[in-house]
Amino acid sequence: MSYFIRKIKRDVFTLMAVMFGVAKKIDYKSLNTYILAINQTNTLENILLQTSICLKDILQYRLFAFVLRENDRLQCWIDPDMNMEELKHRIRKDFNMKTSITVNLINQKQAKGNQTPEYKTDDLVSYELQGDSYGARIYVVPDRKPLPYHQEIMETILTTIRIALSNYMSIKKLETEAAIDPLTGCVNRREFNRIMKGEIANAVRYKKQLSLLMFDIDHFKAINDTYGHHAGDLVLKEIALCVSREIRSGDVIARYGGEEFIVILPETRKQKAIELAERLRKIIEKRVVMTEKTAVTVTASFGVSSLNGRPDLNSLVNEADAMLYKAKTNGRNAVMPGVIRLCEQKKENAQISG
Ligand code: GH3
Ligand code: MG
Ligand code: MG
Repeated sequence: MSYFIRKIKRDVFTLMAVMFGVAKKIDYKSLNTYILAINQTNTLENILLQTSICLKDILQYRLFAFVLRENDRLQCWIDPDMNMEELKHRIRKDFNMKTSITVNLINQKQAKGNQTPEYKTDDLVSYELQGDSYGARIYVVPDRKPLPYHQEIMETILTTIRIALSNYMSIKKLETEAAIDPLTGCVNRREFNRIMKGEIANAVRYKKQLSLLMFDIDHFKAINDTYGHHAGDLVLKEIALCVSREIRSGDVIARYGGEEFIVILPETRKQKAIELAERLRKIIEKRVVMTEKTAVTVTASFGVSSLNGRPDLNSLVNEADAMLYKAKTNGRNAVMPGVIRLCEQKKENAQISG
């Protein structure tokens, strides 16, 4: 009911605006300020927030959704008031994709008025914001009947959003390229150091466990020498992939050096990290990598370390490295400290204290 009242009010307002010639009173000074504000933001959330404020203030349009398509992924920033399922259906239709949609909520706190009127998906007007490597659309609801000159203003706002979005996507691409190892898709050592600083601070603040698992492929040089560098590359890729499939979503695998990887295990105590390392060791041992000429199998050695009250990245990495070295000198294809060793240590400690 309130939807129809709103619709009638909207039409009456538009008619009066046209009659009294006030409709084209666009505040160009404010529009300029908004355009500058949209262009000065460097996060997607802020671009959307500034856009929603601008649309609301200048045109009385409400921003309801923003959708970004990268490769085969659809990500959507949505107004919490909109019917999610209906909108998802519309988005899939507009992008001609059946994929699932990751949903985030638009922060409209500053753009919204006090009341939350009722809207229907049919009221949504959508505009394309296509880029070279991505597709995007915004969905808005005009709070008054769109007039012909609105299109002119809207085009100015859309051009601004396109530029801001394109800048944001270019920066994001550069940041990703700087953080990701192109061969394996794992984060690189620099990114590992950056993530670890945050993880250590988190673990200390919330008194959480944190473990590291470092592993290095055994006799990898021989793989390159026997089957060629290309086969070696393929093995690195496959091993990284099979480990990343086994770890939890909050864990992070990094390529630490040539054929050496390190896995960050937040909220994981040492015993659990050792068990995971042992499981990964067995998986790698069984993994058959098909290269152009032949099937190749490899083994890996593991070193595990845990925070244990020393909030220091270097000592954590050094301990994992020392354990990995032990695993190598112990004959390779091994985890250090081993599961049994840790149990024995516990028994020894119990005997000493008892
Ligand atoms: P260990 O069991 O003691 O670890 O012996 P290893 O042969 O694995 O270790 P070593 O350090 O002697 O050799 C590592 C090899 O890894 C040498 C290097 O050429 C190779 N390597 C490093 N990065 C890459 C890469 O990106 N691709 C390929 N194919 N090989 C790489
Ligand atoms: Mg090696
Ligand atoms: Mg090595």
